[in-house]
Amino acid sequence: MFRFGHFSGGVHPRGNKNTHFYPTVRLDKFATVRIPMSMHIGPPCTCLVKEGDPVKVGQLIGRADAPMAVPIHSSVSGTVKSVLKEVASTGKAVQVVVIESDGLNTVDESVQPPVITDRASFLQAVWDSGLVGLGGAGFPTHIKMQPPAGKEPDVLVINAAECEPYITTDFRQCAEHPDEVIDGIIQVMKHLGIPKALIGVESNKPLAIDVLNYELMKLKLSANLEPDISIVRLKTRYPQGAEKMLIYSLTGRKVPAGGLPHDVHVLVLNVGTVRFISKYLKTGMPLIRKRLTLDGSAVKVPCNINVPVGAPIPDVIEAAGGMTGEPGKVIMGGSMMGVALDRLEASIIKQNNAILVFDQKEAQLPPETQCIRCARCVNVCPMHLMPTTLDNMSRNQDIEGLNQYHIMDCIECGSCTYVCPAKRHLVQSIRIGKMHIRSAPRAAQAKEGAAK
Ligand code: SF4
Ligand code: SF4
Repeated sequence: MFRFGHFSGGVHPRGNKNTHFYPTVRLDKFATVRIPMSMHIGPPCTCLVKEGDPVKVGQLIGRADAPMAVPIHSSVSGTVKSVLKEVASTGKAVQVVVIESDGLNTVDESVQPPVITDRASFLQAVWDSGLVGLGGAGFPTHIKMQPPAGKEPDVLVINAAECEPYITTDFRQCAEHPDEVIDGIIQVMKHLGIPKALIGVESNKPLAIDVLNYELMKLKLSANLEPDISIVRLKTRYPQGAEKMLIYSLTGRKVPAGGLPHDVHVLVLNVGTVRFISKYLKTGMPLIRKRLTLDGSAVKVPCNINVPVGAPIPDVIEAAGGMTGEPGKVIMGGSMMGVALDRLEASIIKQNNAILVFDQKEAQLPPETQCIRCARCVNVCPMHLMPTTLDNMSRNQDIEGLNQYHIMDCIECGSCTYVCPAKRHLVQSIRIGKMHIRSAPRAAQAKEGAAK
C-alpha cells in the first residue's frame, strides 16, 4: 500500500456517516414500481411493453437505440399497469412504465450469464447489462470503457473514496462483498487489457482497506494469483472522490481543463460498478436493483438498503421505518453534490446512491448577504477557479466572462458554498451560469432568425 499525494483545496465537512456499521438490508415488498425509460445521459429507450403485459424480473422493457443509451429491464415480476409520461427523478419528462408487482420475483428466461470470448463481447455484455455510472450522472459504462484511439488506459482507478457526507454504500460494498469487488476489477483489467489497478479509499474507512487487502492476500495464497492491484489510503478530504482529484491523488496525473480521464490514460470506475460487473458475468442479471443510504434528520431509522429500481421513494422510506414528521427537503445523492427533489413522489433510479430527507428546520437556507471579499471560496476551490467572480458574472449573464473564467471546469462540488461566511449561493449561481452558456447558441440563433 502506498500514498501518492493529494489535491489542493477542498474542505472537511462533518462526515455524518451514521450508517457506516449498518449492514445492507434488502427490501422487496413494493406493490408497484415506476421505471423511467431514461436513467442515462443519452436519448430515452423505446418502450417495449404496454398496459396489461405480463413481465418478469430482468426482462428487457426499454430498448436502447443509440450508443449513449443503455437498455432498461423490469425489476419485479407482475403486470404492466400503465405507461405514462411524467417527470422522473432525473428531472426530465419521460415515459414511465408502472408495474404492479405479483410479489413472486419470477426471473425471466432471458437472464443467462453472458458468453465472453473477447474484448468486444465483454463490452457488449456491459452494454446489455444496462450499466451506467452508479452514483453519477448516468454516463453509460460501455462508452467510458471505449476511449478514442491512442488514449487507451494503462491504469484502472477504482473510486472507493466516498467523500460525500452521509453516504456509506460504497463502504458497505467493500465490507460485505470484497471478493466480488476484487473479482470485478480483475475482469475489467483482463478484458480491457489494463495492466494495473489502484483502489482509492479515504483514511476514515480502515475496515474497507483491511478487507480488500485480506481478499488480495487470499487470492495469492489460495490461487497463487497476484494481480497488480494496490489499495491506496487517501487523505480524508472532500471532494477526494471527484474523478479529477482522485486521479491526481492516485497517479499524480492532471486531467487537462475540459479533458476527460482518458486524456491521461486512466479509466475510473466506481467500486459498486466493478462489483456489479462481477455479479453480472456470473448470473446475467441486469442492473435492476440499487443499493443506497437512507438518512437525514426526518428519517426515523438511518440505514443502507437494497431496493428494486423504480421503487417509489415514499414507499422505500416507509418500508425502512418511516419519517419523524413532515419533510422539509429531499435530496437525491449526498448533501454536498446531491440534487434536491421538488417532490417526494419520485422513484429510485439507477444513479441513486442516497436519499436524504431533512426536517423543516434543517431545510431552511440562511439568507444571502453581501460578499465580504474574504477569498475563502477561492482558497478551497479544487479546480482553482474564482467562485465569487463566477457568481457575479452569472448574475449579470456575462457569457464572455464566464467562458473566460472557465466556468465549465467547475465540478459543482459545493466547497465554495460550504465555506462562504456570507452564505452566498455560489454553486447554485454557477449552475445557472452554465445554463446561460448552454442556451447562448440557441438564443443567438433565435435572435438571428428573428432578424432575418
Ligand atoms: S467553483 Fe465549482 S469546483 Fe470550485 S469550489 Fe465551487 S463548486 Fe467546487
Ligand atoms: S467566500 Fe463568500 S464572502 Fe468570501 S469571497 Fe467568496 S463569495 Fe465572498
